[in-house]
Amino acid sequence: MFEEATQYTPGGVNSPARTFRAVGGTPFFVDRAEGAYVYDLDGNPYVDYVGTWGPAILGHAHPKIVKAVQEKAALGTSFGIPNPLEVTMAKRVCEAVPSVEKVRMVNSGTEATMSAIRLARGYTNRDKIIKFEGCYHGHVDSLLVKAGSGALTVGSPNSAGVPAAFTEHTVVLPFNDEEAVKQAFETYKGEIAGIILEPVPANSGLYPPKPGYLDSLREITRREGALLIFDEVMTGFRLAWGGAQEVFGVSPDLSCFGKIIGGGLPVGAFGGRDDIMDQTSPTGPVYQAGTLSGNPLAMAAGITALEELRSGEAYQQLEKSGAKLEEGILDAAKQVGLPVQINRLGSMFCLFFTDSPVRNFNDATKSDRDRFAKFFHGMLDRGVYLAPSQFETGFLSTAHKDDEEIEKTIRVVREVFKEL
Ligand SMILES: *Cc1c(COP(=O)(O)O)cnc(C)c1O
Repeated sequence: MFEEATQYTPGGVNSPARTFRAVGGTPFFVDRAEGAYVYDLDGNPYVDYVGTWGPAILGHAHPKIVKAVQEKAALGTSFGIPNPLEVTMAKRVCEAVPSVEKVRMVNSGTEATMSAIRLARGYTNRDKIIKFEGCYHGHVDSLLVKAGSGALTVGSPNSAGVPAAFTEHTVVLPFNDEEAVKQAFETYKGEIAGIILEPVPANSGLYPPKPGYLDSLREITRREGALLIFDEVMTGFRLAWGGAQEVFGVSPDLSCFGKIIGGGLPVGAFGGRDDIMDQTSPTGPVYQAGTLSGNPLAMAAGITALEELRSGEAYQQLEKSGAKLEEGILDAAKQVGLPVQINRLGSMFCLFFTDSPVRNFNDATKSDRDRFAKFFHGMLDRGVYLAPSQFETGFLSTAHKDDEEIEKTIRVVREVFKEL
Protein backbone atom coordinates (compact mmCIF):
# COMPACT_ATOMS: atom_id res chain seq x y z
CA MET A 1 0.00 0.00 0.00
CA PHE A 2 2.81 2.39 0.90
CA GLU A 3 4.59 1.72 -2.39
CA GLU A 4 1.42 2.53 -4.26
CA ALA A 5 0.93 5.63 -2.15
CA THR A 6 4.41 6.90 -3.01
CA GLN A 7 3.60 6.60 -6.70
CA TYR A 8 0.68 8.97 -6.41
CA THR A 9 1.50 11.21 -3.44
CA PRO A 10 4.81 12.87 -2.50
CA GLY A 11 6.45 10.57 0.04
CA GLY A 12 3.26 8.54 0.22
CA VAL A 13 1.72 10.83 2.84
CA ASN A 14 -0.57 13.83 2.95
CA SER A 15 1.30 15.45 5.83
CA PRO A 16 5.04 15.02 6.41
CA ALA A 17 4.75 14.25 10.13
CA ARG A 18 3.19 10.91 9.16
CA THR A 19 6.31 9.65 7.46
CA PHE A 20 8.64 7.32 9.39
CA ARG A 21 11.76 8.98 8.01
CA ALA A 22 13.04 10.07 11.41
CA VAL A 23 12.78 6.57 12.85
CA GLY A 24 13.23 4.42 9.74
CA GLY A 25 10.72 2.13 8.06
CA THR A 26 7.40 2.99 6.48
CA PRO A 27 4.12 4.03 8.06
CA PHE A 28 1.39 1.45 8.53
CA PHE A 29 -2.04 2.16 7.10
CA VAL A 30 -5.16 2.53 9.18
CA ASP A 31 -8.72 2.04 8.03
CA ARG A 32 -10.34 1.87 11.44
CA ALA A 33 -9.88 3.31 14.91
CA GLU A 34 -11.89 2.96 18.08
CA GLY A 35 -11.33 4.21 21.63
CA ALA A 36 -7.63 4.07 22.49
CA TYR A 37 -6.75 1.94 19.47
CA VAL A 38 -5.90 2.30 15.80
CA TYR A 39 -5.99 -0.87 13.68
CA ASP A 40 -3.69 -1.58 10.75
CA LEU A 41 -4.96 -3.18 7.55
CA ASP A 42 -4.25 -6.66 8.92
CA GLY A 43 -6.44 -5.88 11.91
CA ASN A 44 -3.60 -5.53 14.43
CA PRO A 45 -4.50 -3.13 17.26
CA TYR A 46 -2.11 -0.43 18.48
CA VAL A 47 -2.55 1.59 21.65
CA ASP A 48 -2.53 5.03 20.08
CA TYR A 49 -0.64 7.95 21.65
CA VAL A 50 -0.82 10.09 18.54
CA GLY A 51 -4.57 10.62 18.73
CA THR A 52 -4.62 12.02 15.19
CA TRP A 53 -2.03 14.55 16.45
CA GLY A 54 -4.21 15.94 19.21
CA PRO A 55 -7.90 16.00 18.34
CA ALA A 56 -8.84 12.56 19.72
CA ILE A 57 -8.99 13.57 23.38
CA LEU A 58 -12.07 11.36 23.85
CA GLY A 59 -10.53 8.48 21.91
CA HIS A 60 -11.49 7.47 18.39
CA ALA A 61 -15.02 7.04 17.03
CA HIS A 62 -16.64 8.34 20.20
CA PRO A 63 -20.26 7.10 19.91
CA LYS A 64 -21.80 10.52 20.56
CA ILE A 65 -19.59 12.23 17.96
CA VAL A 66 -20.30 9.51 15.39
CA LYS A 67 -24.03 9.87 15.99
CA ALA A 68 -23.95 13.66 15.78
CA VAL A 69 -22.06 13.56 12.47
CA GLN A 70 -24.35 10.90 11.00
CA GLU A 71 -27.47 12.82 11.95
CA LYS A 72 -26.21 16.11 10.58
CA ALA A 73 -24.80 14.56 7.38
CA ALA A 74 -28.29 13.40 6.48
CA LEU A 75 -29.45 17.02 6.63
CA GLY A 76 -26.80 18.36 4.26
CA THR A 77 -23.07 18.74 4.68
CA SER A 78 -22.51 22.40 3.86
CA PHE A 79 -24.85 25.30 3.25
CA GLY A 80 -22.72 28.35 2.55
CA ILE A 81 -25.15 30.47 4.54
CA PRO A 82 -25.32 30.67 8.36
CA ASN A 83 -26.44 27.62 10.32
CA PRO A 84 -27.35 27.56 14.02
CA LEU A 85 -24.54 25.17 14.97
CA GLU A 86 -22.02 27.91 14.19
CA VAL A 87 -23.64 30.06 16.86
CA THR A 88 -23.58 27.24 19.41
CA MET A 89 -19.93 26.57 18.67
CA ALA A 90 -18.98 30.24 18.95
CA LYS A 91 -20.81 30.52 22.28
CA ARG A 92 -19.05 27.45 23.67
CA VAL A 93 -15.62 28.80 22.76
CA CYS A 94 -16.40 32.23 24.23
CA GLU A 95 -17.74 30.68 27.44
CA ALA A 96 -14.74 28.43 27.87
CA VAL A 97 -12.10 31.04 27.07
CA PRO A 98 -12.92 34.41 28.66
CA SER A 99 -10.34 36.32 26.59
CA VAL A 100 -12.33 35.34 23.49
CA GLU A 101 -15.33 37.61 23.01
CA LYS A 102 -15.84 36.84 19.34
CA VAL A 103 -14.60 33.98 17.22
CA ARG A 104 -14.36 33.14 13.52
CA MET A 105 -14.37 29.50 12.40
CA VAL A 106 -11.92 28.31 9.74
CA ASN A 107 -10.91 24.87 8.46
CA SER A 108 -7.45 24.25 9.92
CA GLY A 109 -5.00 25.49 12.49
CA THR A 110 -2.91 26.92 9.69
CA GLU A 111 -5.77 29.11 8.54
CA ALA A 112 -6.35 30.24 12.12
CA THR A 113 -2.79 31.47 12.68
CA MET A 114 -2.54 32.93 9.19
CA SER A 115 -5.72 34.93 9.78
CA ALA A 116 -4.75 35.93 13.32
CA ILE A 117 -1.46 37.50 12.27
CA ARG A 118 -3.13 39.26 9.36
CA LEU A 119 -5.67 40.66 11.78
CA ALA A 120 -2.96 41.72 14.23
CA ARG A 121 -1.19 43.55 11.40
CA GLY A 122 -4.39 45.16 10.19
CA TYR A 123 -5.45 46.20 13.66
CA THR A 124 -2.12 47.72 14.70
CA ASN A 125 -1.11 49.02 11.28
CA ARG A 126 2.29 47.46 11.83
CA ASP A 127 4.13 44.72 9.91
CA LYS A 128 6.47 42.80 12.18
CA ILE A 129 5.52 39.61 14.01
CA ILE A 130 7.65 37.95 16.67
CA LYS A 131 7.69 34.16 16.69
CA PHE A 132 9.85 31.72 18.65
CA GLU A 133 12.30 29.02 17.63
CA GLY A 134 10.68 25.61 17.64
CA CYS A 135 7.13 26.97 17.74
CA TYR A 136 4.99 25.59 14.93
CA HIS A 137 2.00 27.55 13.66
CA GLY A 138 1.04 25.50 10.63
CA HIS A 139 2.46 26.03 7.16
CA VAL A 140 1.89 29.77 6.85
CA ASP A 141 4.62 31.25 4.62
CA SER A 142 5.78 33.94 6.99
CA LEU A 143 5.73 31.62 10.01
CA LEU A 144 7.71 28.78 8.44
CA VAL A 145 10.94 29.83 10.06
CA LYS A 146 12.51 27.48 12.64
CA ALA A 147 9.13 25.91 12.99
CA GLY A 148 9.56 22.59 14.77
CA SER A 149 8.91 18.93 14.18
CA GLY A 150 7.46 18.34 10.72
CA ALA A 151 10.14 20.59 9.31
CA LEU A 152 12.83 19.19 11.60
CA THR A 153 11.90 15.63 10.70
CA VAL A 154 12.34 16.21 7.00
CA GLY A 155 15.49 18.25 7.71
CA SER A 156 14.38 21.65 6.52
CA PRO A 157 13.96 24.09 9.39
CA ASN A 158 13.16 26.77 6.83
CA SER A 159 11.00 25.88 3.87
CA ALA A 160 12.03 26.33 0.25
CA GLY A 161 9.53 28.27 -1.81
CA VAL A 162 9.11 31.04 0.74
CA PRO A 163 10.55 34.25 -0.72
CA ALA A 164 12.85 36.05 1.69
CA ALA A 165 10.56 39.05 1.39
CA PHE A 166 7.73 37.00 2.96
CA THR A 167 9.71 36.39 6.15
CA GLU A 168 11.35 39.79 6.24
CA HIS A 169 8.84 40.89 8.85
CA THR A 170 9.15 37.74 10.96
CA VAL A 171 11.40 38.23 13.96
CA VAL A 172 12.50 34.85 15.32
CA LEU A 173 13.63 34.71 18.95
CA PRO A 174 14.54 31.97 21.44
CA PHE A 175 11.68 30.87 23.70
CA ASN A 176 11.81 31.56 27.45
CA ASP A 177 14.16 34.51 27.01
CA GLU A 178 12.59 37.80 28.18
CA GLU A 179 15.66 39.82 27.37
CA ALA A 180 15.54 38.84 23.69
CA VAL A 181 11.95 40.07 23.46
CA LYS A 182 12.82 43.33 25.17
CA GLN A 183 15.66 43.93 22.75
CA ALA A 184 13.47 43.18 19.75
CA PHE A 185 10.95 45.78 20.88
CA GLU A 186 13.77 48.30 21.22
CA THR A 187 15.26 47.47 17.82
CA TYR A 188 11.87 47.62 16.08
CA LYS A 189 10.28 50.39 18.11
CA GLY A 190 6.68 50.94 16.96
CA GLU A 191 6.91 48.28 14.22
CA ILE A 192 5.86 45.09 15.99
CA ALA A 193 2.24 44.10 15.41
CA GLY A 194 2.29 41.18 17.76
CA ILE A 195 3.87 38.12 19.29
CA ILE A 196 2.57 34.72 18.30
CA LEU A 197 3.51 31.68 20.36
CA GLU A 198 2.50 28.26 21.54
CA PRO A 199 2.08 29.08 25.24
CA VAL A 200 3.44 25.58 25.83
CA PRO A 201 5.67 24.69 22.87
CA ALA A 202 4.71 21.17 21.85
CA ASN A 203 5.93 20.82 18.27
CA SER A 204 9.67 20.49 18.88
CA GLY A 205 9.54 18.33 21.95
CA LEU A 206 7.44 19.65 24.81
CA TYR A 207 8.53 22.20 27.34
CA PRO A 208 6.65 24.54 29.66
CA PRO A 209 7.15 28.29 29.79
CA LYS A 210 9.29 29.27 32.76
CA PRO A 211 7.43 30.91 35.65
CA GLY A 212 6.52 34.52 34.83
CA TYR A 213 7.52 34.27 31.17
CA LEU A 214 4.01 34.47 29.69
CA ASP A 215 3.21 37.37 32.06
CA SER A 216 6.28 39.20 30.80
CA LEU A 217 5.04 38.83 27.21
CA ARG A 218 1.62 40.11 28.27
CA GLU A 219 3.19 43.11 29.93
CA ILE A 220 5.54 44.13 27.14
CA THR A 221 2.96 43.73 24.35
CA ARG A 222 0.47 45.83 26.30
CA ARG A 223 3.06 48.51 26.94
CA GLU A 224 4.25 48.59 23.33
CA GLY A 225 0.80 48.54 21.71
CA ALA A 226 1.35 45.10 20.16
CA LEU A 227 -1.01 42.13 20.34
CA LEU A 228 -0.33 38.91 22.21
CA ILE A 229 -1.48 35.89 20.19
CA PHE A 230 -1.67 32.47 21.80
CA ASP A 231 -1.63 29.63 19.33
CA GLU A 232 -3.70 27.13 21.31
CA VAL A 233 -4.35 24.83 18.38
CA MET A 234 -2.80 22.03 20.41
CA THR A 235 -3.27 23.19 24.01
CA GLY A 236 -6.80 24.57 23.63
CA PHE A 237 -9.35 22.34 25.41
CA ARG A 238 -6.44 19.90 25.97
CA LEU A 239 -4.57 21.26 28.99
CA ALA A 240 -7.79 22.52 30.53
CA TRP A 241 -11.28 23.59 29.45
CA GLY A 242 -9.92 27.13 29.12
CA GLY A 243 -6.62 26.03 27.55
CA ALA A 244 -3.10 27.08 28.52
CA GLN A 245 -4.33 30.61 29.22
CA GLU A 246 -6.47 29.25 32.03
CA VAL A 247 -3.63 27.12 33.41
CA PHE A 248 -1.11 29.99 33.40
CA GLY A 249 -3.56 32.81 34.14
CA VAL A 250 -2.53 35.00 31.21
CA SER A 251 -5.08 36.55 28.83
CA PRO A 252 -3.93 37.06 25.24
CA ASP A 253 -5.58 39.48 22.81
CA LEU A 254 -6.12 36.79 20.19
CA SER A 255 -6.20 33.00 20.38
CA CYS A 256 -6.03 30.30 17.73
CA PHE A 257 -7.73 26.95 18.02
CA GLY A 258 -8.04 23.76 16.00
CA LYS A 259 -7.69 20.03 16.59
CA ILE A 260 -9.97 19.26 19.59
CA ILE A 261 -12.64 21.82 18.69
CA GLY A 262 -13.29 19.87 15.48
CA GLY A 263 -13.93 16.59 17.27
CA GLY A 264 -11.79 14.87 14.61
CA LEU A 265 -13.10 16.81 11.60
CA PRO A 266 -11.14 19.57 9.85
CA VAL A 267 -11.51 22.77 11.89
CA GLY A 268 -9.72 25.83 13.10
CA ALA A 269 -10.79 29.05 14.77
CA PHE A 270 -9.37 32.36 15.83
CA GLY A 271 -10.93 34.70 18.31
CA GLY A 272 -10.29 37.39 20.85
CA ARG A 273 -11.22 40.86 21.94
CA ASP A 274 -14.39 42.25 20.44
CA ASP A 275 -12.87 45.45 19.02
CA ILE A 276 -10.03 43.51 17.40
CA MET A 277 -12.23 40.78 15.93
CA ASP A 278 -14.55 43.38 14.44
CA GLN A 279 -11.70 44.50 12.20
CA THR A 280 -12.27 41.22 10.31
CA SER A 281 -14.40 41.24 7.17
CA PRO A 282 -17.28 41.96 6.72
CA THR A 283 -17.29 44.39 9.70
CA GLY A 284 -13.69 45.48 9.16
CA PRO A 285 -11.05 45.86 6.47
CA VAL A 286 -9.05 42.66 7.21
CA TYR A 287 -10.18 40.14 4.62
CA GLN A 288 -10.84 36.56 5.68
CA ALA A 289 -13.16 33.93 4.22
CA GLY A 290 -13.82 30.20 3.74
CA THR A 291 -16.23 28.16 1.60
CA LEU A 292 -16.56 25.32 4.11
CA SER A 293 -15.99 27.38 7.28
CA GLY A 294 -18.47 26.54 10.01
CA ASN A 295 -19.88 23.58 8.08
CA PRO A 296 -22.46 21.61 10.05
CA LEU A 297 -20.49 18.34 10.21
CA ALA A 298 -17.40 19.89 11.78
CA MET A 299 -19.55 22.04 14.08
CA ALA A 300 -21.63 19.05 15.23
CA ALA A 301 -18.52 16.95 15.91
CA GLY A 302 -16.79 19.80 17.72
CA ILE A 303 -19.78 20.84 19.81
CA THR A 304 -20.30 17.23 20.90
CA ALA A 305 -16.65 16.88 21.88
CA LEU A 306 -16.77 20.10 23.89
CA GLU A 307 -19.98 18.98 25.58
CA GLU A 308 -18.15 15.87 26.85
CA LEU A 309 -15.25 17.95 28.16
CA ARG A 310 -17.24 20.71 29.73
CA SER A 311 -17.68 19.29 33.25
CA GLY A 312 -13.90 19.15 33.71
CA GLU A 313 -13.97 15.51 34.85
CA ALA A 314 -12.10 14.45 31.74
CA TYR A 315 -9.16 16.69 32.67
CA GLN A 316 -8.94 15.16 36.15
CA GLN A 317 -8.94 11.67 34.65
CA LEU A 318 -6.31 12.65 32.06
CA GLU A 319 -4.03 14.16 34.70
CA LYS A 320 -4.26 10.96 36.76
CA SER A 321 -3.52 8.74 33.75
CA GLY A 322 -0.69 11.03 32.66
CA ALA A 323 0.91 10.93 36.12
CA LYS A 324 0.65 7.14 36.21
CA LEU A 325 2.25 6.79 32.78
CA GLU A 326 5.03 9.22 33.65
CA GLU A 327 5.80 7.44 36.92
CA GLY A 328 5.79 4.05 35.21
CA ILE A 329 8.18 5.14 32.49
CA LEU A 330 10.59 6.87 34.87
CA ASP A 331 10.58 3.84 37.13
CA ALA A 332 11.30 1.54 34.18
CA ALA A 333 14.21 3.79 33.16
CA LYS A 334 15.62 3.77 36.68
CA GLN A 335 15.54 -0.02 36.88
CA VAL A 336 17.84 -0.37 33.88
CA GLY A 337 19.85 2.85 34.42
CA LEU A 338 18.68 4.51 31.19
CA PRO A 339 18.95 8.31 31.01
CA VAL A 340 15.36 9.44 30.37
CA GLN A 341 13.59 12.77 30.82
CA ILE A 342 9.85 13.15 30.63
CA ASN A 343 8.19 16.49 30.15
CA ARG A 344 4.48 16.28 30.83
CA LEU A 345 1.56 18.63 31.26
CA GLY A 346 -1.70 16.80 31.90
CA SER A 347 -2.38 14.55 28.93
CA MET A 348 0.57 15.79 26.86
CA PHE A 349 3.95 14.14 27.29
CA CYS A 350 7.32 13.86 25.63
CA LEU A 351 10.15 11.48 26.42
CA PHE A 352 13.79 12.32 25.78
CA PHE A 353 16.84 10.08 26.01
CA THR A 354 19.20 12.46 27.74
CA ASP A 355 20.42 12.92 31.31
CA SER A 356 19.87 16.66 31.50
CA PRO A 357 16.51 18.43 31.79
CA VAL A 358 14.91 19.63 28.54
CA ARG A 359 13.83 23.26 28.90
CA ASN A 360 13.89 24.43 25.32
CA PHE A 361 14.28 23.45 21.71
CA ASN A 362 18.05 23.48 21.94
CA ASP A 363 18.02 21.04 24.89
CA ALA A 364 15.56 18.84 22.98
CA THR A 365 17.96 18.48 20.05
CA LYS A 366 20.52 16.92 22.46
CA SER A 367 18.36 13.85 23.00
CA ASP A 368 19.71 10.55 21.58
CA ARG A 369 17.63 10.20 18.42
CA ASP A 370 19.02 6.79 17.41
CA ARG A 371 17.89 5.46 20.74
CA PHE A 372 14.51 7.09 20.21
CA ALA A 373 14.16 5.34 16.84
CA LYS A 374 14.90 1.95 18.46
CA PHE A 375 12.46 2.76 21.24
CA PHE A 376 9.77 3.74 18.75
CA HIS A 377 10.05 0.49 16.80
CA GLY A 378 10.32 -1.64 19.96
CA MET A 379 7.04 -0.12 21.14
CA LEU A 380 5.36 -0.44 17.76
CA ASP A 381 6.36 -4.11 17.44
CA ARG A 382 4.59 -4.71 20.74
CA GLY A 383 1.43 -2.83 19.81
CA VAL A 384 2.01 0.68 21.12
CA TYR A 385 2.03 3.54 18.62
CA LEU A 386 3.95 6.70 19.49
CA ALA A 387 4.57 9.63 17.15
CA PRO A 388 7.39 8.68 14.75
CA SER A 389 9.65 11.56 15.80
CA GLN A 390 11.57 12.64 18.86
CA PHE A 391 10.13 16.11 18.46
CA GLU A 392 6.46 15.28 18.76
CA THR A 393 4.22 15.26 21.77
CA GLY A 394 2.32 12.19 22.96
CA PHE A 395 -1.38 12.49 23.68
CA LEU A 396 -3.56 10.59 26.10
CA SER A 397 -7.28 10.24 25.67
CA THR A 398 -10.06 9.47 28.12
CA ALA A 399 -10.34 6.10 26.38
CA HIS A 400 -6.90 5.11 27.70
CA LYS A 401 -7.80 3.29 30.90
CA ASP A 402 -5.35 3.21 33.80
CA ASP A 403 -5.71 -0.50 34.48
CA GLU A 404 -5.67 -1.53 30.82
CA GLU A 405 -3.89 0.56 28.17
CA ILE A 406 -1.71 2.56 30.57
CA GLU A 407 -0.58 -0.57 32.41
CA LYS A 408 0.06 -2.40 29.17
CA THR A 409 2.11 0.55 27.92
CA ILE A 410 4.26 0.61 31.06
CA ARG A 411 4.82 -3.15 30.77
CA VAL A 412 5.91 -2.73 27.16
CA VAL A 413 8.17 0.22 28.02
CA ARG A 414 9.94 -1.97 30.62
CA GLU A 415 10.61 -4.63 28.01
CA VAL A 416 11.85 -2.17 25.40
CA PHE A 417 14.03 -0.23 27.85
CA LYS A 418 15.82 -3.49 28.73
CA GLU A 419 16.75 -3.89 25.06
CA LEU A 420 18.03 -0.32 24.86
C1 LIG B 1 -1.26 21.47 14.52
C2 LIG B 1 -0.88 22.84 14.82
C3 LIG B 1 -1.12 23.89 13.90
C4 LIG B 1 -1.60 23.64 12.50
O1 LIG B 1 -2.88 23.11 12.45
P1 LIG B 1 -3.35 22.37 11.09
O2 LIG B 1 -4.77 22.04 11.36
O3 LIG B 1 -2.46 21.18 10.95
O4 LIG B 1 -3.17 23.35 9.99
C5 LIG B 1 -0.85 25.17 14.29
N1 LIG B 1 -0.38 25.44 15.52
C6 LIG B 1 -0.13 24.47 16.42
C7 LIG B 1 0.37 24.83 17.78
C8 LIG B 1 -0.36 23.14 16.10
O5 LIG B 1 -0.07 22.18 16.99
